[in-house]
Amino acid sequence: MGRSIKNILITGGAGYIGSHMVRLLLEKGLKPVIFDNLSTGHKEFIPKGVPLVKGDLRNPGDIRKAFKKYSIDAVVHFAAVIVVPESVSAPLKYYENNVNATVNLLQGMNEAGVRTIVFSSSACVYGNPLKSPILENEPLKIENPYGATKVMVEQILGDMSRAGQINFIALRYFNVAGAHSAGGIGIKMDKPTHLIPNVMRVACGLKKELTLFGNDYSTKDGTCVRDYVHVVDLAEAHLLALKALSSGKVKNEVINLGNGRGFSVKQVIDAAVKVTGRPVPYKIVPRRPGDSVNVVASYQKARRLLGWVPKRGLDEILASAYQWEKSLYS
Ligand code: UDP
Repeated sequence: MGRSIKNILITGGAGYIGSHMVRLLLEKGLKPVIFDNLSTGHKEFIPKGVPLVKGDLRNPGDIRKAFKKYSIDAVVHFAAVIVVPESVSAPLKYYENNVNATVNLLQGMNEAGVRTIVFSSSACVYGNPLKSPILENEPLKIENPYGATKVMVEQILGDMSRAGQINFIALRYFNVAGAHSAGGIGIKMDKPTHLIPNVMRVACGLKKELTLFGNDYSTKDGTCVRDYVHVVDLAEAHLLALKALSSGKVKNEVINLGNGRGFSVKQVIDAAVKVTGRPVPYKIVPRRPGDSVNVVASYQKARRLLGWVPKRGLDEILASAYQWEKSLYS
C-alpha cells in the first residue's frame, strides 16, 4: 500500500460486507474508521478499538464531523439500502439513501480534500443481461429504482473524476455470500430475501422448506443462474482497489467482481445438501417478478487491473454461510 493511504473511512462498516472489509484492514495493519447509522448495521460487528462515527449520510453535518475528527486518506462507500422490491414500492427512500447520501459524502470529501473512493456498485446495472459472461462495457439497463441509484452514482463519480475532483473505482458485485472463517460476522436480517441465507435457514431447521421461484427458465435445469462470490474475496478486491488508486496505476474504472462461474438455484441447493449434510426441501412456485435468467461475470478486468482472482468457490461459500447461520441460533 502506498504510504498515503492508512486511515480509511468505511461507510456501512457495521454491515455485512463493510464488517468484512474492516476485519481485512485490521489484519493488514491499516486503520479503519466506521461511519454507520446502525439502521441495518450491527454494533456487535465492530471490532474493539475501531472508532465508530454514528451518523447518517443524509445529514451533511454528520459526515462533515467525521472528516473533521479523523484525518482520512480514502473512503470505501458501502452504506446503502439494498432491497430491490422495496425500491419499487418506496423509491424515494432509495434515492435519498443511495444518491443524496452519496452526494453529501462526496461534498464532505471535497471539503476535506479527500480524493480517493471505492464504491459498491452492483451487477444490477446490467439489468437482465443477454450475454454471459458479462463484460464491463455491456450497455447499462435500469430495471428498478435500486439499479437506477447505482447507475446514477457511477455517473456522478465519473463526472467528478472528469472534473479532477476524485479518483474512484466502482466495483460491480455479483451475488455476494459466505462469511469470515473466524466467525462473528455475516448476513443478519430478519427476513432475508437472498437465496443462500434462505437455504441455510432451511438447513438449520429454522424454515421447513425453501421457496424456489420458477423452474421454467431457459437454463440447463430451468432455474435461474447466478455467479456467487465469497465476501472475503470481495473484501480483498476492495483492498487491491485502494492499493491501485494509491499507486496511481488505476483510476476511474468500473470493475466486475464475480467468480466467473454460474450455478443454478437447483445446483446451489444440491451443493448445500452435500456441504452441510442436512436436507434442504423446497417447493417450486411461480417466477419472482424482476428476476434475471442468467447473470455471470467476467472478472478478467479485475484480474488485469487489480491483480484480483477469486480464491473461494461455491462449497467454501456455502460451508462458511452454514457456520455463520448455525452460530446465530446457538
Ligand atoms: N431464489 C429462490 N428462493 C429464495 C431466494 C432466491 O428461488 O428464497 C432465487 C431467485 O429467484 C434467483 C436466485 O435465487 O433466481 C438468486 O436470488 P437472490 O435473491 O439470492 O439474488 P439476486 O440475483 O436476485 O440479487
